[in-house]
Amino acid sequence: MPRWKGQTIESPLRSFVNIITAITYETEWASLSRVAEIITHNQDTNSDTELNWKIMWDSLKEMQGKKCISLKKSKALMFRIKCVNKILPTKDICYLRNPKLYKSRKCIACFREDETFHHLAECEIYQKIWKNLEEEAIQLTGLEARTKLDLSLDENSLKEAIYSIKSEEKSYNRKMHLRGFTNIKQLTSLSRVTQSKNKASKVLASFTKYFWKCFYERL
Ligand SMILES: [Zn+2]
Repeated sequence: MPRWKGQTIESPLRSFVNIITAITYETEWASLSRVAEIITHNQDTNSDTELNWKIMWDSLKEMQGKKCISLKKSKALMFRIKCVNKILPTKDICYLRNPKLYKSRKCIACFREDETFHHLAECEIYQKIWKNLEEEAIQLTGLEARTKLDLSLDENSLKEAIYSIKSEEKSYNRKMHLRGFTNIKQLTSLSRVTQSKNKASKVLASFTKYFWKCFYERL
């Protein structure tokens, strides 16, 4: 009889190892400090800003395993995993690792504020780029909805539902989009536009994919 940590393993060994590996993997994800911070945020806010984990997770899965067949694709996947965990090599992180080389945390574009992950979304120098990038992500999402879901969506309502019109919410959403996250409120608004929760969820998934793609390629 095989044993593990003093206990006899009664189930087939292979499935036991698979289960233990999966649990360890998931626990590691959940306890990564940056992910934990979002889980806590989710627990103490109202349901509106609750995040659509499944959409982000599926979007990562799309690129994993058998689909990750080249160095280029593997780099793109790593980039997204770093985004989720807010560990892209922005200057604050670089400085922490090598203060002699980087000298300061200041943003290389505006020289005013520290270059943190969230500053990328706020930096005044990048606003024009963001505007174009967000425009492009909406266009691609609309195109995919037309071809794959046979949905003809008005770009302005799509923008309103996903980005919001209030500037504070817009900025918050952008920071979340950077990390691959959308929330329940966006799903609800999109459900009204598409007349179906299922379709809204597919549109958000496609948006998540394109937003990340544009961010990875353009910024
Ligand atoms: Zn800046």
